[in-house]
Amino acid sequence: IALPGDIFPGRRNSAGIDLTDELALQSLAHTLRQSASQNWTAGVESADARPRPVLNPADHRDQVGTVFDVPTVHAAQAVARAAASGWGNAPVAERAAMLDRAADIYQERLELFMGLAMREAGKSAANAVAEVREAIDFLRFYAKQARETFGADQAPLGPVVCISPWNFPLAIFTGQVVAALVAGNPVLAKPAEETPLIAAEAVRILHEAGVPEDALQLVTGDGSVGAALVDAPEVAAVMFTGSTEVARLIQRQLAGRLSSDGKPIPLIAETGGQNAMIIDSSALAEQVVGDVIASAFDSAGQRCSALRVLCLQEDVADRTLDMLKGALAELRIGNPDVLATDIGPVITAEAQANIEWHVESMRAKGHRVTRFDVPEDVAVRGTFVAPTIIEIGSISDLGREVFGPVLHVVRFRRKDMNALIDQINATGYGLTFGLHTRLDETVAQVTSRVRVGNVYVNRNVIGAIVGSQPFGGRGLSGTGPKAGGPLYLGRLVKQVAEVLEPS
Ligand code: GLU
Repeated sequence: IALPGDIFPGRRNSAGIDLTDELALQSLAHTLRQSASQNWTAGVESADARPRPVLNPADHRDQVGTVFDVPTVHAAQAVARAAASGWGNAPVAERAAMLDRAADIYQERLELFMGLAMREAGKSAANAVAEVREAIDFLRFYAKQARETFGADQAPLGPVVCISPWNFPLAIFTGQVVAALVAGNPVLAKPAEETPLIAAEAVRILHEAGVPEDALQLVTGDGSVGAALVDAPEVAAVMFTGSTEVARLIQRQLAGRLSSDGKPIPLIAETGGQNAMIIDSSALAEQVVGDVIASAFDSAGQRCSALRVLCLQEDVADRTLDMLKGALAELRIGNPDVLATDIGPVITAEAQANIEWHVESMRAKGHRVTRFDVPEDVAVRGTFVAPTIIEIGSISDLGREVFGPVLHVVRFRRKDMNALIDQINATGYGLTFGLHTRLDETVAQVTSRVRVGNVYVNRNVIGAIVGSQPFGGRGLSGTGPKAGGPLYLGRLVKQVAEVLEPS
């Protein structure tokens, strides 16, 4: 039998662990206990670094570790050090070999990383496996891409500031950093302030794999440190994943500035979405329910790709909603240290309050709201949000993006399908989109009209696979190029940047 790696040479994705296997679960539970007894740190303890406890969002009694935030005034020095690192002189083959080496070490430490993703970011065990696998895939994929596509005529851009989110604290952190590095750029890596510990571990591994310390520096802190990094004169590019609002602030910071060789400074931004899924009356109801739950509630809805508005064709709306509600009532909400947990916490009390505020304001506007309970003993320990369904009249009732386990539902008539898609497009976002139908002509009609980065047909809309499903949006959802795709590295070297940018 041919293995996938043989059918698509070089496209084999990393190995995970089987969470239905009793032995694998025992080993995982053992490593999780080990990880919980370790004193995790990020940043360097010093007189002017501010120590800050990092708490488990599922249980605030659990301190995962301590981060030493870098004073803002040190940001400029860090960029200057990176600029002088000489990293761009290392041959491509050497840089790529370091990524491959790091991938092997990540694989060896898969369970330790899982423990951190679960305790620091509140990920379920299944999400934590996927997180580490995706990080490993990014390492191997960009190493391979660099070897295959970089010739002698590509020059690195210079120091790249990477600002990454807490919702994929290892995968997106690693993806940005190693793409910039393998293209020959020294990196200032600014992880989300909520998840510095797993990022610090990733940086330690990349150093262990051979990346010099000046070429990859972890800079911990809040948004003001990120802003200070972006402000440094040597910065040649910025990679950012997070909110559309912050992406715009960065864009404004970069506007009007030129790089040391007189070019506009590129920003690669991946931001949010008001992602929709259309279900027509020919769809398979049982499959729809599973895919909607995964799309909207996996990771407690804290993915840019997550489904925010489900569009049900009127004739099947009541039946589908009933099934959906029945299935949602069965989900287990709790601390991911119980390995069977389906939905963990949201990241902070502030996030929790924002989501609750949205739900209450939608209720106040008269929309029908259905919520599913968080068990009392779970709710008191951390920041949990009850999975919620809000029935709205039209896409224009959505308001702003809500980053949590909240699904809006709208009904439509078959004859209004084009108008519905136009309304989805009119949100201005364009990240993911899902369609469930068994009619070929509907697939053609819908997919040719909708304007998004990633379209998924008859499946869920999350968990894009590196190398197979390049991920990224249009409009307010991002600048491109897509992560995990063949064009990504080209944006991080001079040759292509010059072609793309008017001088
Ligand atoms: N790539 C992730 C997915 O497909 C989402 C990334 C994000 O949330 O930023 O689910």
